[in-house]
Amino acid sequence: MGQQYTPGPWTTTQAGNDYEEITADGGRVIATTSTDDDKGEQKANARLIAAAPELVEALLGLSQGWGDWCECIDPKQPNHCYPCMARAALLHAGVTL
Ligand SMILES: [Zn+2]
Repeated sequence: MGQQYTPGPWTTTQAGNDYEEITADGGRVIATTSTDDDKGEQKANARLIAAAPELVEALLGLSQGWGDWCECIDPKQPNHCYPCMARAALLHAGVTL
């Protein structure tokens, strides 16, 4: 896998009254979410973004550990089993397998 994103861990910090900041080690800013309209939802979005490196690792483990296992029955509706969903999510995120 060629990792092109900033390595984790990423954390969230309230930065001012109106936004949440997602940062990597060393304080590098990954993203910000505005919290001026819905603080709860935007804080949850920030936590989800901050968990991305861990989610990638978990999905890679699932994808690789269960690579031969697939329950997708209908070829017209692929990605209905967890390993296939993991691979699709990784591809969506631009992570090469
Ligand atoms: Zn499948």
